[in-house]
Amino acid sequence: MPRYFWLLEDWTALAAYKGDFNAAHKWSLPGLAKCPGCSVTWASTGHNYPAVDLSALPEQDAFLKARPEPFTEFVRLRELVRPLAPPGVALPPGTAFGPLVGPARGDLGPLTWQGSYLLLLRRDAFEGLHAEGVLGLSSRKAELRFRQKSPPEYLEPQVELRGQLHPDCYPPDQRPPCGTCGRLGMSLPDDPILDAASLPTDRDVFRVGNFATVMVGTERFKEAVQRLELEGITFRELPTR
Ligand SMILES: [Zn+2]
Repeated sequence: MPRYFWLLEDWTALAAYKGDFNAAHKWSLPGLAKCPGCSVTWASTGHNYPAVDLSALPEQDAFLKARPEPFTEFVRLRELVRPLAPPGVALPPGTAFGPLVGPARGDLGPLTWQGSYLLLLRRDAFEGLHAEGVLGLSSRKAELRFRQKSPPEYLEPQVELRGQLHPDCYPPDQRPPCGTCGRLGMSLPDDPILDAASLPTDRDVFRVGNFATVMVGTERFKEAVQRLELEGITFRELPTR
C-alpha cells in the first residue's frame, strides 16, 4: 500500500538559515468579483504554474495586477490562458503563472518555503532529487534578486493538482462546489484523508485537487529527501481511504 505525506515547513531546521525573500508570480488570473452563482468574491491559493509563460499573449498586461473582475471578464481572460496551461487543469480565479519575481537576501538554505505551501529548491537540491529518480518535477527558475555577487539559483517545482480529499473528512453539512465558479466553501479539515482511488501514479509530488494548499509527497520523495539530507520539510503521513 503506497504511503503519502503532507509536506510542511520545518521551522526548526530552517531557523539556521538567516535569509528571506519576498516574491510573487509574474502573472495571474484575476480574482472573481461576486460570482453570479454563489455571490462570493474570491481568489484561490496554491494554483501555481511557474513553467507556463504568458509573455506571448498580446494581452499579457491584463494578468499583471491582482484584482477582482466580474465573471464574464474573468472567463474571457481564463480562456486566453487555457491553451498555454497543461491540458485539463482547473484554472480558478487567482491561478498564478510564470516565474516568482522579487528581492531576496541572505542564505535561504537548500530549500525554502513561501507561506507553507510554496516550495523553492536550490539548484543542487533540485538536481539531487532528479538524480534520485523523483518523478514529475518540472520547474522554473525563480527570478530572485539577491544583492550579493554570484547568488544561488532557486527553482520552483511546478506542483500540479491531482487527486482529492476523501469526502469522509468533510464536515457533515458540507455543500457541493459552486456550479458556476467551482468554489468549495470549506476550510481544511484538521485530519485530512486522501481519496486513494483518485491519487496519481505518475508523480511523486502533487497538490491535492480540491485543496491546492496541501502539498503531498510519496514515500519515494520522502526517502530521497532523507537520503540527500535536505532539511526543511516536515512529513506528516496522511491516511488514505
Ligand atoms: Zn461561485
